[in-house]
Amino acid sequence: MKVYRVEVMVIDFDNIGPGGVKDVIEHTRYPNWAIHPEVKGIDTREVNWSDRHPLNIMDTADQAYRDLFGDHVPVLTADLKGMASFACEHVVRGEESCDEAEMWRGACCNACWARRVAEEALRKNKS
Ligand SMILES: [Zn+2]
Repeated sequence: MKVYRVEVMVIDFDNIGPGGVKDVIEHTRYPNWAIHPEVKGIDTREVNWSDRHPLNIMDTADQAYRDLFGDHVPVLTADLKGMASFACEHVVRGEESCDEAEMWRGACCNACWARRVAEEALRKNKS
């Protein structure tokens, strides 16, 4: 037996919310109980929907989806944990560490930037 992880976009026309979407996917009776989906996570984006929205047009839908959610690449949690332990390059050289404000405006060293990205990804993965 195989187990799949499936990436699915759901447009919430009835505003049932992420809990409602999870309920529908998990509690729909699929023919012959052929599949048993379990929603493991939901990301939400707000759009001003219309029939002409790029997500609703076949030629632009894939790009609009990528623009909304970004491209996902698999990264091992162990590698993220390694990145999350990077020491500030300035501290390694005996200088003062990059501060929080420098990190958020992208003016920190590469190690601090990588650590911040890894910490954020690990935090999102827990929630
Ligand atoms: Zn730094």
